[in-house]
Amino acid sequence: MPTPSHRLPRTRRIAVLAGGSVAAACVLGAVPFAMSAQAAPDLAHAALPAHDGWAADGKGTTGGSAASGSRVFTVSTRAELAKALTTGSATAPRVVRVKGAIDTNVDDSGRPLGCDDYAQGTGYSLASYLKAYDPANWGRSKVPSGAQESARATAQKRQAARMVLDVPSNTTIVGVPGTGAGLKGGSLQVKKADNVIIRNLAFSDTRDCFPQWDPTDGSTGNWNSAYDSLSLRGATHVWADHNTFTDSPGLDAANPRRFGREYQVHDGALDITNASDLVTVSYNRFSDHDKTMLIGSSDNDTRLRVTLHHNVFRGIVQRAPLARVGQVHLYNNHFDTTERDGYAFAYSISSRARAQVVAEYNNWTLPGAGKTSRLLTGDGTGALAGSGNLVNGRVTDLVAAYNAANPKKIRPTVNWRPVLCAGLETSAAGLPASLGRTAGAGVLTASGALARTDVRTP
Ligand code: CA
Ligand code: CA
Repeated sequence: MPTPSHRLPRTRRIAVLAGGSVAAACVLGAVPFAMSAQAAPDLAHAALPAHDGWAADGKGTTGGSAASGSRVFTVSTRAELAKALTTGSATAPRVVRVKGAIDTNVDDSGRPLGCDDYAQGTGYSLASYLKAYDPANWGRSKVPSGAQESARATAQKRQAARMVLDVPSNTTIVGVPGTGAGLKGGSLQVKKADNVIIRNLAFSDTRDCFPQWDPTDGSTGNWNSAYDSLSLRGATHVWADHNTFTDSPGLDAANPRRFGREYQVHDGALDITNASDLVTVSYNRFSDHDKTMLIGSSDNDTRLRVTLHHNVFRGIVQRAPLARVGQVHLYNNHFDTTERDGYAFAYSISSRARAQVVAEYNNWTLPGAGKTSRLLTGDGTGALAGSGNLVNGRVTDLVAAYNAANPKKIRPTVNWRPVLCAGLETSAAGLPASLGRTAGAGVLTASGALARTDVRTP
């Protein structure tokens, strides 16, 4: 068992970090799972373990772990969840235990709300919208404006008022084990908040009833939607752990085409944007989704230090993640790029806008016709370093494969070295099997341990 680096004499630690490889620094920083689990009294009051990714930097991430008594809420409806997130002090520690799958598109009495309900009284109708902005009438040079676009925006705001829920600082939201806990059609938003933990939740089919047509997006225009299942905007110290994200049961294959483009009702699964910083995304399962994870929403975004480890990406089209600007560490993730449920693979990781990505000891499953040169993409300014990545079991230099086939090169060196890498495994070979048991919602128990045998070894 390696010694955690924070227990090493300071002089030795510095020597190791200055002279060792990326992996050597990380292995010394590793905290075995069993040790980290011991520190937490229960799942609802657990804090992020030491060294566990960027969210462990500085004061670390404790969420609502200090909450007790009336600051611990158990909710099973949207109304109860909304109340729990707004009751009392905005900043005192708060734990919200989610029991069962909460449908967020409902009114305060729990009556389901459909797209027609949100549109009622706004003047919006899809038929009128399509007529107004058909390129044959409206052209392709300017974004929609006028009565139908205003009505669409009003209807969209009415939906947002139900299905978007803001998460305040010093909060833990955690699914109660054994209840199928999660959000159906909902969007948790951590906006300009600090110190938040989101664990053991299944997010499904977060969808926008009112996609917006933008003829200037790309060469043929695009339909864009507004909501991510989990959205971090200007958020700091966030730990998203053991959650599941999927479009199911509303798969993209059911989206019609309008104006020759997919009428896309989904946006991101977990987007980290607007100068968000110090985020750890661990042991999540992302499946059946297109635009999975933005890190940075524009090339001028800032900060964006994010760690992704032990996540599974399966049936994902793109952005796993799309990284801009920040220092991003990906280790021990499993990417299965096999087409699934109609989600055709485009790429896994994009490094652009000078992003400094370290990707090491990850594992790709590629179908027979898959090309290693398509696992990455970039704009010619991004970097990606790191070794020990496996493609179908073989150690592969992802950057060399990409650069050999693409004119916009990815730089193979970065300007930093990760040290916050708890549990980093220096072989990726066992990840598809182990993460099949340990990633996603529904595998943690009330004690914070895994329900099934954890095969992680330091
Ligand atoms: Ca778009
Ligand atoms: Ca988004």
